[in-house]
Amino acid sequence: MFSYQHLALTPIINACGTVTRLGGAPLRQAALDSYQQASLEAIPLEELQTAVSQQLAEWTGAEAGIITSGAAAALTLGAAAILAGSDPAKMECLPHTENIPHEFLVSRDHRSGYDHAVRASGARLREIGLNEVVSGAGVRRTEVWEYEAAICENTAGILYVYTKDSAPALADVVSLGQKHNLPVLVDAAGELPPPSNLTTLVASGANLVAFSGGKAIGGPQASGLLLGQRKLVGSALLQMLDMDDHPQLWKPSLLDQLDFQAMPRHGIGRGFKVSKESVMALMSALDEFLQEDNSVRMQGLADTLSDIQKKLEQAGIISQVHWPDPETTPRLHLPAADAFRVCQQLRDSSPRVFVGHGMLDQDILIINAIALREHQIDDLCQALIDAVNNPL
Ligand SMILES: *Cc1c(COP(=O)(O)O)cnc(C)c1O
Repeated sequence: MFSYQHLALTPIINACGTVTRLGGAPLRQAALDSYQQASLEAIPLEELQTAVSQQLAEWTGAEAGIITSGAAAALTLGAAAILAGSDPAKMECLPHTENIPHEFLVSRDHRSGYDHAVRASGARLREIGLNEVVSGAGVRRTEVWEYEAAICENTAGILYVYTKDSAPALADVVSLGQKHNLPVLVDAAGELPPPSNLTTLVASGANLVAFSGGKAIGGPQASGLLLGQRKLVGSALLQMLDMDDHPQLWKPSLLDQLDFQAMPRHGIGRGFKVSKESVMALMSALDEFLQEDNSVRMQGLADTLSDIQKKLEQAGIISQVHWPDPETTPRLHLPAADAFRVCQQLRDSSPRVFVGHGMLDQDILIINAIALREHQIDDLCQALIDAVNNPL
């Protein structure tokens, strides 16, 4: 079997989490088994995604759902669905949107590099609100009236990036969207665990919600979920599927044939295709994710971190487990003078170690155990002790 060794590559120790840059977390065994099984039989993809949609509806309460090649792809497809609806002519034009409403309202403090995925559909973002809190020049965050004041004939929808601290409240933005008939697209890519977010965000009434499949769910790295209204999810699916068939033979399955004046051609998402293997692997991973006890899983991660903490303490290094919510992933904070240097030394060590780098400017390294494997813990601790205690 061809392996990383054949490419003269040495894998790293990932103490950073389910980050894409580092290849994510290990795939669940059940997902791997499904991947192999699914590959042995051929299935029309539109039928597959339609059956998946019914199962996702049962699991999440959404009207419909599809599997995409990641949350970023789900955002592009979701935005494309909002822009084009079920109009094949509009689908054909994307990403050119001069002649149709194409603005998505977004709070200034919801912006990030990931919104490139929304813009890739042809949507343009119209920022609202001010960064008063971030700039230390005030206490107010974006308010609902500011969304309302920005609505014009070019407005197509609202982009909302969900975290438990997002403002204004999702429910209020959804109400506003409903009042003005503007769909709300929610980026909740990394908001699992807790698993309850799958149902509560759907139940918020948001029109579309995107989640990553390759983060805590433990599906293929390049997989994701788009959940929401059947009409929009169906449009997103069509803009991703291969459409090379005769119109007179085509039987749309997630949407009704009557919804269409004509059969769309390959859409803007054709490059985000998802294989039947990935679809089934993510369904297996999600099935396990929903069945397991999340508190037990999180406790297991916390126990691993306590174990690391004790080993570091024996070498005179003090760290703290940071676990504000028992339903979400715990982390170990390791204060270290000159954290950038320590981080670099860890990346250059043997074996190479990657830790969370979100608080380096505060001289804190972060350890997340979700992608760590049991046999790596001793090497990880040794590398941390060396890098902190013996600067090169
Ligand atoms: C990870 C992430 C994404 C991208 O998800 P993929 O599944 O890697 O495509 C988008 N938005 C946010 C906020 C994320 O954390």
